[in-house]
Amino acid sequence: MDLKRTFTGFAAALLMTGLLGNPAPAAPDDSPSTRDFGNGPERNSVAAEIPPIGQSASTFKIATGTTGYPRQNVLRVYPENPADKSIKLGLVPYHGIAPKLNALQQASNRVSAEVIGHSALGRDLYLVTVTAPETAAQARKQDRWRALIEDDPRQANRDAALKLGYKTPVWINANIHGDEWEGTDGALRVIERLAGATDPATAALLARTRVYVTVTNNPDGRIAGTRVNGAGFDINRDHATGSQPESRAVRDVVIGTQPFVMLDEHGYTGTTLIEPATPPHGQNYEYDLYIKHALPNALGMEAAIQRLGHPETARADIPFRDYAPGDWDDWPPIFTPMYGIYQGAVGHTVEIPLQVNRGVYDSLPVEELRRRSAVNTDVASATITAAISYADVHRRSLLEGQIEQFRRGWAGEPSPEIPDGFVEGFGPEDRYSTTFPRAYVIPDSGPAAARLVDHLIANDVRVTRATHAFTLTGRSYPRGTYLVDMRQPKRGLANVLLEAGRDISQLVPQMYDISGWSHRLLWGAPVDISRAAAPRVSTRPVVAAGPAGHVPSGGRDLLLTLRDGSDVRALNTLLDLGVAVRQTTAATVLVPAAARDAASLVADRFGVRFTAAPRSATGTPLTRPTIAAAVSADELFVLRDMGFQPRVVSTARLNAGADLSDVDTLVVSSGLSYAGLNATGRAEVDELLARGGVVTRGSTGAAFNAAAGLLPATAVAARSDANGVVAVDNTGPVVGAGSPPHSFVYSPLWFTGTGFTVEQRYASTPLVAGHWLPSSTEAAGRAAVISGPTARGGRAVLFGTEPLFRAHPKGLYAPFARALYWTAG
Ligand SMILES: [Zn+2]
Repeated sequence: MDLKRTFTGFAAALLMTGLLGNPAPAAPDDSPSTRDFGNGPERNSVAAEIPPIGQSASTFKIATGTTGYPRQNVLRVYPENPADKSIKLGLVPYHGIAPKLNALQQASNRVSAEVIGHSALGRDLYLVTVTAPETAAQARKQDRWRALIEDDPRQANRDAALKLGYKTPVWINANIHGDEWEGTDGALRVIERLAGATDPATAALLARTRVYVTVTNNPDGRIAGTRVNGAGFDINRDHATGSQPESRAVRDVVIGTQPFVMLDEHGYTGTTLIEPATPPHGQNYEYDLYIKHALPNALGMEAAIQRLGHPETARADIPFRDYAPGDWDDWPPIFTPMYGIYQGAVGHTVEIPLQVNRGVYDSLPVEELRRRSAVNTDVASATITAAISYADVHRRSLLEGQIEQFRRGWAGEPSPEIPDGFVEGFGPEDRYSTTFPRAYVIPDSGPAAARLVDHLIANDVRVTRATHAFTLTGRSYPRGTYLVDMRQPKRGLANVLLEAGRDISQLVPQMYDISGWSHRLLWGAPVDISRAAAPRVSTRPVVAAGPAGHVPSGGRDLLLTLRDGSDVRALNTLLDLGVAVRQTTAATVLVPAAARDAASLVADRFGVRFTAAPRSATGTPLTRPTIAAAVSADELFVLRDMGFQPRVVSTARLNAGADLSDVDTLVVSSGLSYAGLNATGRAEVDELLARGGVVTRGSTGAAFNAAAGLLPATAVAARSDANGVVAVDNTGPVVGAGSPPHSFVYSPLWFTGTGFTVEQRYASTPLVAGHWLPSSTEAAGRAAVISGPTARGGRAVLFGTEPLFRAHPKGLYAPFARALYWTAG
């Protein structure tokens, strides 16, 4: 990137639309059409109405090598669905994919198809592998080589047979956003061509290459014409969190196939867009190894779309080359290609050009939509073909790059210094690096620690467990403590999940999506850092966290502290079982000794830890609160995850006569406006406000509070794109009691006024990691969460933070649940 790059792209568009620097939360319609916020600030406008759905596991496993290729499966065929939104565009509907793949497998021994998991609504997710046939012995050799590259990269680098015979893995992910359809059709075209080509060059290519294609990563969205999956989640924001089955499935594909190159096919940016991205670049990448191939591969894809000859494909935007810093960054590991880089791939987002979704889907003539979709399919196909070709031509260098990435990890080498001009346009603004700590230490402290350990392992981060007590950096740890030794192949991924992150507010004027996250600071488990000292203790590898639950022996009543979402889930289960639970404080409940069996059950199932209650302990009877919720999809998901059974409401539903007469607490964050209620809706809400509770989040919640006259607080909004991990001081009895010293914000609010209790304040320098302009110190010491009795006769808690955001900050769930019990009580 050089000074020729002007302030173009999104920043200019943002200025023109007045978004940049505008302190008011931005409406989605104000955003340039190409900038998709996902479920960011705009998620306050529509109340999610998603029915409860089950959670399925990924079924993809690293090949065991018991069979060769092809590995063909007859895929189940779905009934024809005339409502599939692909049909109008002339594209393959979801129900047409399995028949097509079944036929391709019949016709060609180069094609294998398997089901690697299920969407949120239970639809099959397909992985197609295209490669020349392999015997079982040949496939086993490929498996051993793949493992060797990761486990012993020095040895792999010396292995001449590996370097000659290892098949180049390339992975194409299509249609992760359901209403960005044509990646699927372009990928199927490439599969068909590779399957049927009779020329020697294709045969030779497939003899040295495995092409993996996840044909549609989002069947629910493909059918419904939505960006999100059936649970309302943007899968391409979920890769650090893994809350959705679609992201977990492709996570297991990238780990299992270890691609050299991957494409994530999206749309629609007007001009085709091909990454590499602008800075800020993720500071945990081995960025030299990435950009060395990412830029020339992008140039090759650009040349390929130019050769198509469509006027709309005369050039591509390559953000690294063409955009200003911050306009299209690769900072957070939430996107598929960025996540893929940490797994060893040169990852690219590709945005096909011509819009066919949202407004134009209904307004443009069918012929024009189909013309556009045909061009888009050409672009998807051309970029995929070009990337496969690049990977083949540069296979040796790509292989050595992946080996080098994992070697640096094992060796604990510092991030390399990359000189200006390393690739054309690489300058000081592209230089991001970090100092890796020597180890992270995760004490075996309960359900949060167990969840974090399991999450790290699922992401192929290596975790061990101490077989003896030990000391490290002056602290003593017992046997059974978990360790993440950072001398490991995927140290970048380990660190990007566990580090605090960084305040990058002053580096760029805006960011594409979230700029802060941290499993160490937000997932509720205490994690210590050893910056330099190596742990000196014998360990064994961990394949799953050990059981975390505990019920003390003896005949005493039991205490459960609501520190974690798992504790809340356990409490709700006890209430469902009819246990006479009493609440002692806002954060602690008392379970009678007579319910010991039920306590043991939930301790086993949810990993929660009971303690023996003092003999004098007492409390007030607790019943399961009935919750109504006008919230975003992620919040609905988390409430259900904690065992609440929220009744979905909205302005429209209340105006149509929705019943709140048995509701104890109303949660308001999205799609409920007090001012928008008609006489019917208002009467129902007013009746609730006179006796029950309200919990709000964000600007929609604060507006509800003001219009309904609940707490005498004024909400002040930061810039709508401000986001990240913030330091907080816990001062109140309900949310503040025992909460972590960090929280998460997106479009943060603070509250001014008197006549309420401050539960939590922003610290003197709030932002720990993320992007908040002009400065997070505008919120220093301000009230972030408040509570109190309302002027209407009930209780309210108002959140200016985002405790349930995208199901990520798991350590913040329990404080939110405490607000629900308290307001209901
Ligand atoms: Zn997209």
